[in-house]
Amino acid sequence: MIDLVDADRLRDLTLELVSVESPTGDTAEVARLFARRLEQIGMDVEVLDEAFPATPIVIGRLRGGSAGPTVVLDGHLDTVPIPHAPPTVEGGVVYGRGTADMKGPLACAVETARVVKERGQFPGELVVLATGLHESPGGRGEDLAWLLREHGFEADAVVVCELGGDTFVAAHMGLATMEITVSRPGQATHELKTAAGSPHPITAAGRVIEAFAARSEELAKQQHPLVGSETYFLGEVHGGDFYNRFPTECRLVGTRRWAPGNDYAAVDAELRTLLAGVAEETGCAIELDLRLVRECYEIDPSHPLSTALRGAYEDVTGEELPVAGVKIVADAAFFHGDCGIPAVYHGPIGNGAHGDVESVPVAELVRATKVYLRTLERLWA
Ligand SMILES: [Zn+2]
Repeated sequence: MIDLVDADRLRDLTLELVSVESPTGDTAEVARLFARRLEQIGMDVEVLDEAFPATPIVIGRLRGGSAGPTVVLDGHLDTVPIPHAPPTVEGGVVYGRGTADMKGPLACAVETARVVKERGQFPGELVVLATGLHESPGGRGEDLAWLLREHGFEADAVVVCELGGDTFVAAHMGLATMEITVSRPGQATHELKTAAGSPHPITAAGRVIEAFAARSEELAKQQHPLVGSETYFLGEVHGGDFYNRFPTECRLVGTRRWAPGNDYAAVDAELRTLLAGVAEETGCAIELDLRLVRECYEIDPSHPLSTALRGAYEDVTGEELPVAGVKIVADAAFFHGDCGIPAVYHGPIGNGAHGDVESVPVAELVRATKVYLRTLERLWA
């Protein structure tokens, strides 16, 4: 089956998909194009636009004719909203925003389905799924969460078609963004006209920063074997507006990342306890806006889906796919976590995701497509 993979089709479809701009939250045009391409290869296609009209969910289905598992190839059609030079192909490499992250990988999913359709009989169902609210901060996978939790989407196995081009991603961290507002009552006042002992929001924010540093030191001692240690990170501090005015507010913005074994609820509780301590000590009010981006993820490398993918990679490349963990988050967490649908990551290796110049080699698109096809063959065997 892998001999049927067509490099020119992969190149052309990737170029076509990246030629339609689709920043997070604005993917309707490319979603309809993607749906047409799935229809053309003979898939039954649904475009779900009732819940998220600006980012329709595209679901293409190929039914095999006998009983078997429903296997999903999943990806996102949105890209980061960072300008890029017009798309081109040069020396066997496709350039453009979204080539690597991840319209190229979605082209691989289409080509996989095309080959499966051409070959004919297979057990179960092959599904290509594409969403449009992946990249934070514009998206947090709200559409995928809706599809799985409210729309009742079901499947038996999922390959998320990004990450892990030359490693088996057995774990990744969970991520939440945090915005902390430290305040005192009343208006900003002259430094000398403010009652002695008034709670000082910047001083209190300093106590929060110290508490994060102390907790980070403890966390650094606990290394998860695949993803390393958990972190508190602050990227922004805003407070005060004039050198001798007593401020009313200070705002801290950052991230909290946690390892498998921990979870969002526990992270939320820990952070609220920490902030309550500083509020009590300083007399300032502290508000927390903590938002989940993705839960953490972990899969047993000897799970049948894992071994199918790892075996497929070996079939195609002759090399082993070494087990590893990554710190960044992605969508397998949605399927694999609370929905209980086993999910793995694998995609073509591109360059410059979120960077100024983004690209994917056509040879990598071909390789990844072959790995998907061999994974399917192994799951069907
Ligand atoms: Zn991506």
